[in-house]
Amino acid sequence: MDHPHIIIGGGTYGCFTALRLAERFGGDRVLVVEQEADLMRRASYNNQARVHGGYHYPRSVLTALRSRVNAPRFLSEFAEAIHSDFQQIYAVSRRQSNVTAGQFEHFCRRIGSQ
Ligand SMILES: Cc1cc2nc3c(=O)[nH]c(=O)nc-3n(C[C@H](O)[C@H](O)[C@H](O)COP(=O)(O)OP(=O)(O)OC[C@H]3O[C@@H](n4cnc5c(N)ncnc54)[C@H](O)[C@@H]3O)c2cc1C
Repeated sequence: MDHPHIIIGGGTYGCFTALRLAERFGGDRVLVVEQEADLMRRASYNNQARVHGGYHYPRSVLTALRSRVNAPRFLSEFAEAIHSDFQQIYAVSRRQSNVTAGQFEHFCRRIGSQ
């Protein structure tokens, strides 16, 4: 069988790319090569499952803005995988944090989240 589209790694990105390619070229034209016994076993499984809306990156405004721009698309495309029936709280440690509460507040204003 001819496999013109070969993807190395079956994590989130590899699987998503494979699905998109399969939609376009047909499933028999796409091959995902994964070193583990199953798909989605590495970072795509071992993460904290937060949908990033920008708040997580107070030391990178660019990353925060990219997250804010892309979050609505992610929320729309993966709506069935998202839980939102709980309260979300961002807290800044008073001690030993790389960001103070004041800096975090300033950052939130810069990315338009306040
Ligand atoms: C601790 C932690 C917490 C995180 N928390 C969040 C979060 O809250 N929210 C968020 O949005 N993101 C979070 N992330 C980031 C997110 O998990 C990753 O950005 C995302 O899963 C990356 O997907 P991936 O497909 O690139 O990588 P992976 O899921 O790691 O997939 C790569 C795959 O490639 C395979 N592979 C590698 N080399 C080869 C090879 N030579 N041959 C065959 N297969 C190979 C691996 O086995 C693996 O299955 C977190 C990450 C970590 C590590």
